[in-house]
Amino acid sequence: MVDFAAIRAQFPILDQEIHGHPLVYLDSAATSQKPQCVIDAETDFYRTINAGVHRGAHELAARSTEAFEQARAKVARLVGANSAEGEEEIVVTAGATAGLNLLATAFGNASLGRGGEAARRFALKPGDEIVVSKAEHHSVLLPFQELAARTGATLKWFDLTEDGRIRSDTADEVITERTKVVSITHVGNTTGAITDIAPIVRRAHEVGALFILDACQSVPHLKVDFHALDVDFAAWSAHKMYGPTGVGFLYGRRELLEALPPANFGGSMVELAWMDQPAQYMTPPARFEAGTQPVAQVVAAGVAADWMMAIGMENIEAHERTITSELLKLGDIDGVRILGPRGNERRIGTVAFDVAGVHPHDVGQFIDAQGIAIRVGHHCAQPVHRHFGLYASNRASSGVYNTPDEARALVEAVAKVRPFFKA
Ligand code: PMP
Repeated sequence: MVDFAAIRAQFPILDQEIHGHPLVYLDSAATSQKPQCVIDAETDFYRTINAGVHRGAHELAARSTEAFEQARAKVARLVGANSAEGEEEIVVTAGATAGLNLLATAFGNASLGRGGEAARRFALKPGDEIVVSKAEHHSVLLPFQELAARTGATLKWFDLTEDGRIRSDTADEVITERTKVVSITHVGNTTGAITDIAPIVRRAHEVGALFILDACQSVPHLKVDFHALDVDFAAWSAHKMYGPTGVGFLYGRRELLEALPPANFGGSMVELAWMDQPAQYMTPPARFEAGTQPVAQVVAAGVAADWMMAIGMENIEAHERTITSELLKLGDIDGVRILGPRGNERRIGTVAFDVAGVHPHDVGQFIDAQGIAIRVGHHCAQPVHRHFGLYASNRASSGVYNTPDEARALVEAVAKVRPFFKA
């Protein structure tokens, strides 16, 4: 049995009052809080081994490089990726947004003929299709919309069910012989719905398209194995999985990373550079990690990955399910509508809701006055809000540190919103 009270006690930020009430943090889909071991890992790094990685002959540089590569291996273990030297499948990025833009830029470069014959599989031309869904975060939608505009490819998308699930059952119609790239979220950041990606991945591969997974909202909450899921690429951020801000990871199947041309250029990604000849780039992951790396943050993200694995992803999932059950009671309140699946199956504890007649900003402020932090706005996912006939919503989202009592406190507070505003 995991002692979740002891786990919660590892988060110093939670031990405070907001507006005279104990803080209830229900905004982990935006960013999670950090356990003491992650906070310590960052400061310990600066106190003891801070140095640039992969260069310099001195001892600190060697230790720093070792810590950086060990962190990569820990993160790889969390998501079932390879990390042996020469077989690395995890690229360090500045976050999910950076990882998705890296892919879109690299595919754009391949479309210009960069990367030669090996990179042809990433190239797009007019008539080709890129497929996303209406449930995507803007960091999926916009890079691929831009890529379509730059290459002349057509952007297509999966529609959603009434409760906001991606219509995986339409994979055979949406994905065609012309489809080259499919990018889909594993878990909706508004609906909390877990996508049934298997039929989409199968269909993408049947027509020879690449499948990219936005794993931002799955890696922190579910046991995820990218090899078992058979995805080609996946992007996510460390700050939502109890790690630091400013870093994230891009998974790529090794042979794809080897064929992919670089997107960012600069130091530490090139074997040979001349004034009058094309440069020779390094093998992955270095080819995609131009510039000085956020070493302290990556090391701390590795500690976060280890910390999650020590608790056990199955245990985290089961614990959060108890929070989700309470959060879903929001739907029983008169005038409150849940934007997403109303049952506690194939979903996580991210529950967006609308309070009839009360603007989300008013809801958020009313809830905040009671020390409860939730998100209001469109959560960088406008199309899914349009699907529900709204521009904005309220969103409560759980983390490993939440308790069912906290979820109940939110439900009680939301029940008072409409009477208060006389909506
Ligand atoms: N995709 C999803 C599903 C997300 O929830 C987020 C973060 N809100 C992102 C992408 C972008 O992540 P980041 O802002 O950390 O780059």
